[in-house]
Amino acid sequence: VLFSQLNLSRPLLRAIEFLGYVNPTPIQTAVIPVVLAGKDVCASAVTGSGKTAAFALPILERLLFRPKRVAATRVLVLSPTRELAVQTHLMLSRLSQYTDMVTCLVVGGSKNMRAQENELRARPDIVVCTPGRMLDHLMNSPGVSVDDLEILVLDEVDQLVDLGFAAEVESLVKECPRQRQTLLFSATMTAKVDALAVLALNRPVRVRV
Ligand code: AMP
Repeated sequence: VLFSQLNLSRPLLRAIEFLGYVNPTPIQTAVIPVVLAGKDVCASAVTGSGKTAAFALPILERLLFRPKRVAATRVLVLSPTRELAVQTHLMLSRLSQYTDMVTCLVVGGSKNMRAQENELRARPDIVVCTPGRMLDHLMNSPGVSVDDLEILVLDEVDQLVDLGFAAEVESLVKECPRQRQTLLFSATMTAKVDALAVLALNRPVRVRV
């Protein structure tokens, strides 16, 4: 399989070329068409499998394909750690470098709450964050909302659970519009991961590579 066969548009294919990727990894081949079709995904995938680009590419494609005239936070990515959130944000920035249509923000514990609040109020298209800080903003920062959310990504859910974030993730899922697309990634599928999957996903396509 070639990236050019996956229905991704020019700016994304250019970015893939710039990054030196030749062929999609198995998780990318499996996940990209499902996300482009608008379906929910429940994927078992470890770090190193190329899972970040597996969700980043079709998400960017969907944002580019259906532009919005009014600024809105359309995608929320929940990461277990600030480090992973920064890595994911970096990947999204690199993959969207040939388009100026997408804005992406990383929200984490180290930055000043007020400054972040202002950045969130500007409604970046994509927000990558750890659950605690995002929930804090949704509860306490007027003007910060996920009312226009189209896609929710729960990344490394086994880690989110192990780090004690299950309740926060649950609350965040409940804050999101019911009408949305949800993508869940986890290295292992434990009972607690399954419980979050049941809560968050709607008739998901299961992917295991
Ligand atoms: P991840 O599993 O998302 O943490 O990605 C692991 C590493 O694989 C990252 O350094 C990516 O830059 C790289 N990568 C992702 N997709 C591909 C691909 N199709 N070909 C080569 N490397 C890739």
